[in-house]
Amino acid sequence: MENSDTSTNAGWHSLPANHVLEDLKCSTEGLSQTEVDTRFVKYGANRLPQAPRRNAFVRFLLHFHNILIYVLLGAALITALLSHWVDTGVILAVVVVNAIIGFIQEGKAEQAMDAIRHMLAPQANVIRSGERVTIDGEQLVPGDIVLLEAGDKVPADLRLLTAHGLSVQEAVLTGESVPVEKRIQPVADDAALGDRASMAYSGTLVSSGQAKGVVVATGSGTEIGRISGLLSNVETLTTPLVEQMALFAKWLTIFILIIATMLLAFGYFVAHHDFSEMFMAVVGLSVAAIPEGLPAVLTITLAIGVQAMARRNAIVRRLPAIETLGSVSVICTDKTGTLTRNEMMVASVLSNRHLFNLEGTGYEPKGALKLDDSHVSPSEHAVLEELARAATLCNDAALRVHEGVWVVEGDPMEGALLAFSGKMDVNVREEQARWKRTDAIPFDAKHRFMATLNHDHGHHACIFVKGAPEQILEMCSNQRSVDATTEHLDSAYWHQKAEAIAALGQRVLAFAVRTVPPEHTVLEHEDVGGTLTLLGMVGMIDPPRDEAIKAVTECHEAGIRVIMITGDHTKTAAAIGKQIGLKNTENVYTGTDLDTLDDASLSQAVLNCDVFARTSPEHKLRLVMALQSHGKTVAMTGDGVNDAPALKRADAGIAMGKKGSEAAKEASDLVLADDNFASIVAAVREGRTVYDNLTKVISFILPVNGGEAISLVVALLIGLTLPIAPTQILWVNMLGSVVLAITLAFEPPEPQVMKRPPRNPSQPILSSFLIWRIVFVSLIFAAGIFGQFELALLMGRDVEIARTMAVNTLIAMEVFYLFSMRYGYGTSVTWRGVVGTKPVLISLALITIAQLLFIYAPFMQNIFDSRALKITDLLLVFATGVAVLLVIEVEKQMRFALKRQQEG
Ligand code: ATP
Repeated sequence: MENSDTSTNAGWHSLPANHVLEDLKCSTEGLSQTEVDTRFVKYGANRLPQAPRRNAFVRFLLHFHNILIYVLLGAALITALLSHWVDTGVILAVVVVNAIIGFIQEGKAEQAMDAIRHMLAPQANVIRSGERVTIDGEQLVPGDIVLLEAGDKVPADLRLLTAHGLSVQEAVLTGESVPVEKRIQPVADDAALGDRASMAYSGTLVSSGQAKGVVVATGSGTEIGRISGLLSNVETLTTPLVEQMALFAKWLTIFILIIATMLLAFGYFVAHHDFSEMFMAVVGLSVAAIPEGLPAVLTITLAIGVQAMARRNAIVRRLPAIETLGSVSVICTDKTGTLTRNEMMVASVLSNRHLFNLEGTGYEPKGALKLDDSHVSPSEHAVLEELARAATLCNDAALRVHEGVWVVEGDPMEGALLAFSGKMDVNVREEQARWKRTDAIPFDAKHRFMATLNHDHGHHACIFVKGAPEQILEMCSNQRSVDATTEHLDSAYWHQKAEAIAALGQRVLAFAVRTVPPEHTVLEHEDVGGTLTLLGMVGMIDPPRDEAIKAVTECHEAGIRVIMITGDHTKTAAAIGKQIGLKNTENVYTGTDLDTLDDASLSQAVLNCDVFARTSPEHKLRLVMALQSHGKTVAMTGDGVNDAPALKRADAGIAMGKKGSEAAKEASDLVLADDNFASIVAAVREGRTVYDNLTKVISFILPVNGGEAISLVVALLIGLTLPIAPTQILWVNMLGSVVLAITLAFEPPEPQVMKRPPRNPSQPILSSFLIWRIVFVSLIFAAGIFGQFELALLMGRDVEIARTMAVNTLIAMEVFYLFSMRYGYGTSVTWRGVVGTKPVLISLALITIAQLLFIYAPFMQNIFDSRALKITDLLLVFATGVAVLLVIEVEKQMRFALKRQQEG
């Protein structure tokens, strides 16, 4: 059951929060696992029912819905009317085999897309049995306590219990795109959906603030469930390029039909051929020239690309991104978690007098405190306890032991702070129980601080603030000294020390406090301005990812610039940038610098700076536009709710799968399952490979059709015997596009794929080179077919044998051309080139068996009028194939030489 309307559309919004909890038989401590299990059985999974898939038979039939196939069906009908039953049978067989292959491949592609969708399933932060845990959104049950923060997608209908500066964008429900503020007070029973400020509805996006709410409805019981009813996620597997090619194939078909009609008229009226014979020849020609397999093979190539990317942790949300990724020339990336591991540990602790070092591993709250290389006890320095208290209370994360390892729920940086508190001998749980949080100003990347208001049982109230050092220093007038007395702030000291810690690549965070009267229960921005007392600072290490260092080098070799855009300190950013191998790390622009530049100066500035520090999300948007003004194809990463505009504007918007907000994911083209920079580079490599393979498919299929068509047109015009009979052409086409061309979809990246500069995105797929290639190879194929056919006739063989030779020559040329095609940027005459890949070898085996049957099996001889060949004939056929490979290799080498000459 997927419905969980806990009561009849109860007016939860009009009830006080505590009544709602009573009605739902739960508390703010959350449900126990047993209760969750019982409710899950009762209410079912929190998901909207899926629209039923189109019936399999209809999907199969849709594969016939294509002008190319209509032409073939028309041909089948007319051949039947003319009683050419064998031809009718073969044409129909080709059509059906094409549809079956398309159907199976489409099924596979859809499965792949489903798996990907599953990887994108949203998570929910809940409190269960008093513990904060992250669960699959589908596991939510009514009565669960859910935590919300900026960027989250509300996972179920919630009655809010606490809300700090919460505003929610409810466009999916109300159509209103301006975020609405939320409060916990009940509203009128008859309030419209958009006015129910005490509720947060499933599917809406949190634009700012923090909140806690209790689930009142899940799945189809939610408001969105009522409105949308069924969730339809039919997405067609296509990109602009594939669409363009499908359109091209359509026009080509029409063009071919016109030519065919003209030829028929010419043959019948001018050359006075027999109509039925002429007609069959023209059908043969049309069938030969129409690339019926092309659209299907291109789609399959895309589907395989999507799967390959998913295997490398890059989940494609919008298919055109596959193409764009292949042409990316600049990657703008975040630092924390993408270039670095986001496994933080406090390594430096700074008081007004001392710089301590702190040891430890991971998030385990144990580790020695050292001052000038000798051990010290935290209790010797009173200020450290207060610093640790601030770190504990101004914190939303939780630490727990999972399979013997300490892990973080929430922000790793805050997790590191809890571990730090433990090392300072502060009991985190006791401290959090003693000092209850009354209000908070959540962290936002613009202000770079977070504040909480806490009250203890002894009627004391304190505001704790943590944030970027420059920000916090501006908010302070005093500082705490080591002996816990208060003195006037020595701003210069702190700035200088903070920079020194940052220059080691550590992230520096400052902590401050202010005592307020106990009646103070609401925290406003004015409460934290100017009058705080600085407690101290900590420096956290977050080592670069080894694989990111390699990936940056790979990008540079591939002509792709890597730019780091971070909210962190200039010095930290520069130090990490250097460790990671970025090029221009000397010259760092900050967000403040960017604010002083107009668009023209910014456009100049982006040319020689690879590190941007202390930026806000709005700067990302300007940077993307500045880079795009130089014609660059920009990939941009993001995680926060405010990154959405930049992600949308970038050519490829990339959201972080783990630490990214739902808002960022929704705005992105690609989601990284592991948040890792190396996965972006892997996706670019796959993007380039997919593009290469699409080009290979096109430049394989079109010349095969071209070669056949040319030989037929020449034969018809000159009045020679057709070198290949119409039914035989169908046979060759089926083998060519179905068995051979499909292997190109599976081609692995070429060795040079990341050693060449990015593709120019404005270059059309049918580039002048590709057109030349198609014409050149078509001519070679036509010459091969004709040459072999006429040679056999000259040698006194009969027409059937000569045709069997021509068919086999064409297949052999295709096979060798396929081997040549596999390497567009290097020679194919290498051991690797000869050995091929598994799909290539399978198709080679299939094609050999098929051809042996074609030549020697009596039933095939009956259908296709083929004849047994001698071994010397086969050798001749093979030799022609080898000759084609050599000719094309020579052409390739000439092209490389020409290119080298042009380049230098
Ligand atoms: P990136 O992922 O782009 O490298 P970042 O995570 O370093 O960015 P932000 O999250 O915007 O950047 O953080 C900017 C600064 O704000 C940090 O350097 C830190 O000083 C401060 N900061 C970050 N998170 C918090 C937090 N939860 N509470 C208080 N201050 C924070």
